[in-house]
Amino acid sequence: MKAQQADVVIIGGGMVGLGLACALKDTGLSVVVIERMEATPRLSLGRDCRVSAIVAGTVEMLRGIGVWEYIGSRAQAIEGMRIFDDQRFGSVRFEAAEADMQELGFLVENSVLSDAMTQVVHDSDSIEYCCPASVDSVVWKASHVELTLADGRLLHTPLVVGADGGNSWLRLQAGIQVWSHRFMQRGIVATVRPQFSHKGVAYQRFLPTGPLAMLPMTDNLCSIVWSADDPEADRLMALDDAAFLNELQLAFGPLLGTLQEVGERAAFPLRSQLAKHMVRPRLALIGDAAHQVHPLAGLGVNLGLRDAMALAQEISDARRFREDHGSMDVLSRMRGNRIPDVLAVMSAMEGFHHLFTSEMPGVPWLRDAGMRAVGNAGTIKQLLMRRATGLSLPLPKQIS
Ligand SMILES: Cc1cc2nc3c(=O)[nH]c(=O)nc-3n(C[C@H](O)[C@H](O)[C@H](O)COP(=O)(O)OP(=O)(O)OC[C@H]3O[C@@H](n4cnc5c(N)ncnc54)[C@H](O)[C@@H]3O)c2cc1C
Repeated sequence: MKAQQADVVIIGGGMVGLGLACALKDTGLSVVVIERMEATPRLSLGRDCRVSAIVAGTVEMLRGIGVWEYIGSRAQAIEGMRIFDDQRFGSVRFEAAEADMQELGFLVENSVLSDAMTQVVHDSDSIEYCCPASVDSVVWKASHVELTLADGRLLHTPLVVGADGGNSWLRLQAGIQVWSHRFMQRGIVATVRPQFSHKGVAYQRFLPTGPLAMLPMTDNLCSIVWSADDPEADRLMALDDAAFLNELQLAFGPLLGTLQEVGERAAFPLRSQLAKHMVRPRLALIGDAAHQVHPLAGLGVNLGLRDAMALAQEISDARRFREDHGSMDVLSRMRGNRIPDVLAVMSAMEGFHHLFTSEMPGVPWLRDAGMRAVGNAGTIKQLLMRRATGLSLPLPKQIS
């Protein structure tokens, strides 16, 4: 069978893989996305139980690649954030207005974001979306990569991108190992209906077992991410809805009045993971295939989309200057651009996790004092907000 030529092959059509395809749509390059299965969201009170807090900097990127216009009213603006500790009285409030922003970001159901990206992909003549499809074998040659699909098709490409998630098949084929730390916790997700209006505020409460996030959704629903040690997560998952709602109310407190209804729950193991190599000749790993962070800051997909934009930018620049976009010269520039951001977020998340779960003498006092100090220090707060929302990072130039 004659091999098909593609300029870029992306394995994995999750939010990050599709994000890269969308970013490459106007570059004149031919792109093939290979996704092994059609996504079917797990519904909780009629909403996808998987949601993402998309920070303001990422929203700008999604606008730039034509994805945001398909999301519009289906996203809930996050106008403020309140972080508080179960043990003490310290709490921090972040308001978008304090940093001269309209909103800190938006809460979007993962399926809404994926559908918007799929729409952009379908509208493009240069992107081929293969689903369901998978790759049987991959062989790296000096000048290109040879891929054999399960249906027998052959693909040749100068660059293959692994966007196939935390258990990346492509990373395994390339023999790239990971540093991995399992928190021995799971994140329970579900949609709940509170009594009072959430007013666009995202709440994060630190419990001795881990953080509980109550995130605002459209129609005054909220999405929870409740991180708990494995045995506690098992216990919470085994409760019936009424008993679960009762425990959730006790854990979250009365801020939104009575929690009236909860939808179907799902639980995901939590880990922190970093691939030992993000790039190799003719290979780039992006998103969870390259790094996974604790969801407590809601930054995983944001980091992955920043990888996608940085890679698209380097590929597009390489094409303009007639460079081989699968070469290490080009891919190293993308790695150099991304590693500081990834490491900064990973270490901050590890630090927060330990700070808020540790009961060593002095630590509860320290976090209480820290939260009060941040709460009172306008400039530090503004810097933290601009960093957390990705607005302090340079936006990729126009990719075309
Ligand atoms: C409880 C929880 C809450 C979270 N909340 C947030 C949040 O608020 N904000 C945020 O930014 N992040 C959040 N995250 C993290 C975020 O969900 C991930 O970072 C994000 O989904 C990673 O996207 P991805 O496309 O890299 O990987 P994935 O979403 O894992 O997608 C990988 C895709 O590749 C496909 N695939 C896998 N193997 C193959 C193969 N061999 N061939 C073809 N296709 C393949 C899969 O089917 C899948 O579609 C959260 C995570 C958890 C667990």
